[in-house]
Amino acid sequence: MLRQFELVERVKEYDPDADEDLLNRAYVFTVQAHGSQKRDSGDPYFSHPVEVAGILARMKLDTASIVTGLLHDTVEDTVATLEDIERLFGKDIARLVDGVTKLSRIELQSDKSKQAENFRKLVLAMSEDIRVLLVKLADRLHNMQTLRFVKDPAKRQRIARETMEIYAPLAERIGIHTMKDELEDLAFAELHPEGRASVMTRLAFLKEKGEDLVKRVQAELLKTLHDGGVDCTVTGREKTPYSIWRKMQKKNVGFEQLSDVMAFRVIVEKLGQCYEALGVIHGKYAVVPGRFKDFISTPKPNGYRSLHTAVIGPESERIEVQIRTREMHEVAELGVAAHWSYKQGAAVPDGTRYRWLHELLDILEHTANPEEFFENTKLDLYQDQVFVFTPKGDLYPLPRGATPVDFAYAVHSQIGDSCVAAKINGRIAPLRTVLSNGDQVEIITSKAQTPNPTWERFVVTGKARARIRRFIRLQQRAQYINLGKEILAKAIRHEQGEFSEKLLEAALKPLEVASVEDLYAAVGEGLLTRTEVLNAAFPNRNEPRSAKVVPLARARKTPTDHAVPIRGLIPGMAVHFAGCCHPLPGDRIVGIITTGKGVTIHTLDCDTLESFADAPERWLDVAWDPEEVDGGHVGRISVMIGNEPGSLANLTTVISKSDGNITNLKITNRSADFWEILVDIEVRDVKHLSNVIAALRASPAITSVERARG
Ligand code: MN
Repeated sequence: MLRQFELVERVKEYDPDADEDLLNRAYVFTVQAHGSQKRDSGDPYFSHPVEVAGILARMKLDTASIVTGLLHDTVEDTVATLEDIERLFGKDIARLVDGVTKLSRIELQSDKSKQAENFRKLVLAMSEDIRVLLVKLADRLHNMQTLRFVKDPAKRQRIARETMEIYAPLAERIGIHTMKDELEDLAFAELHPEGRASVMTRLAFLKEKGEDLVKRVQAELLKTLHDGGVDCTVTGREKTPYSIWRKMQKKNVGFEQLSDVMAFRVIVEKLGQCYEALGVIHGKYAVVPGRFKDFISTPKPNGYRSLHTAVIGPESERIEVQIRTREMHEVAELGVAAHWSYKQGAAVPDGTRYRWLHELLDILEHTANPEEFFENTKLDLYQDQVFVFTPKGDLYPLPRGATPVDFAYAVHSQIGDSCVAAKINGRIAPLRTVLSNGDQVEIITSKAQTPNPTWERFVVTGKARARIRRFIRLQQRAQYINLGKEILAKAIRHEQGEFSEKLLEAALKPLEVASVEDLYAAVGEGLLTRTEVLNAAFPNRNEPRSAKVVPLARARKTPTDHAVPIRGLIPGMAVHFAGCCHPLPGDRIVGIITTGKGVTIHTLDCDTLESFADAPERWLDVAWDPEEVDGGHVGRISVMIGNEPGSLANLTTVISKSDGNITNLKITNRSADFWEILVDIEVRDVKHLSNVIAALRASPAITSVERARG
């Protein structure tokens, strides 16, 4: 275990300005807080946070990261609280420790491999600061290094699998290759001990045979490059057992055929020398086709830059060669952590050096100025998503702002349709609760439940919204059917004495409607009028009132061809009742002449009249003829009703009890709570309409009623 002064020295080596006092206090705090706790290895527990801090110091991270490493388990595993940490070490460190603690509480529970990607995203989304992720990775690395001491084999397997599927790829993603290699290899040893053992045996055999083959090839390569005039260093290594194993699996080849188990790295100072070195190597050795890759001109998404090639080397072995500058190398080894070590380096005026960091999967927020960049450790990945668990441990990504209803629909449409309540992390919570990362959500369903239209107000996923709307549409259709049936039954009883559905079947073909139910729905929605249906059902019908029932949509277009109960008209001139104000007997009216179209009757208070103010020659003084007024004029009202089952039926009942006939109905506005409906009612005169309006206003289900104008 690192001793206190060793840790401080290690940090001071790369960061002379490091806060020594803070490091010392954190070291003492973690030793005291963990006290006599023991690890599975029998070591005192505090050796773990101290080793984690040591790993972070090797990565040359800032003091806050090292201190967080020392304190990372104190809140979860000791009596220390986050408040204690904040009081003693400040807000920034408390925030980092809290972040690591939260990450430690989530566990990959599901075996399904497609869950891994979601889980990685969850970890990234929860690591609001890149340092939280780095500490978590160091924590995992030390736990893997000591995994063999864990007694429960199932637990060892779970931790190794989580490391392989989640943490090694995360380390790769932020570019820390050394950590990725080590995590992978440790997990490999736990998950496939025989596989690893066989690779190791073969490697040992090859080593025996070749006897320092790596060293000989390395020396030969260096000489070749120096002779070629390239100033460089060359290092050689065997590939990690896991990467060899993977290659064997991927290419389905045996170890004997897998000859390039050695990899060499050529490090130069300047970018141009990379290509010079490549030229020398390709000039001297036979190139293995299809293996050359230029990640300098086209860097990997995580910022990795290097030239890769494979040649038949000096000892007639296939070897892999990577060529890069020192800077590229540091970035490749340390990834995002490298920028702290650059902090001590000389300033680079144009800032291009940091470009790859900016592009690093957008992990770090874009800033123009490198100084500012160092201050900025905020992770912004997947902030538009939340990741929540099912009780079984499956992970679902949802858009930010998602609620248990969105979650229920994401799991299954039927679960969404029938959800009545939700438990979030074991507690009953309202269905409109906004979910947070890592929440475990359990949906309670009931067969009797149907989607609630008010859900539409808070759901954020398209799937939930579409399902809720679909249900509302079906519900509406049921209401339209009831309404249409009521309208038609009443009309037929009036004309034929008795109503039966059979009578309506004759209307289906001429109206091109598939079923009587569709016919009801069309009438209820106002797509067909009562008169149209009656005329179609009874072709020989004597229709004394039909002309008075003008379909809403055509009211403005069709001239009334019956006796107009209006005095003062020019004989033979067509008459329309204005669609804007719907004049009724009793209203004060005026006629407006339109050339070629006849006279349009407006109420005197209609707003439309303003546009004819400077054409007095078109105004026609007209009045109702009491002799001809015989009932059956269409008045229009605008009604606001609560959006509840049965409220439409209530509306029609009140109107028919007031002796009004609905001839058309149109929903003009529909919110989750209210419907605004235009209703055309056949009434005798304006007084009759006033009575209908009064009766509607007296009904509790109706919010407001106005005569529609304009
Ligand atoms: Mn830990």
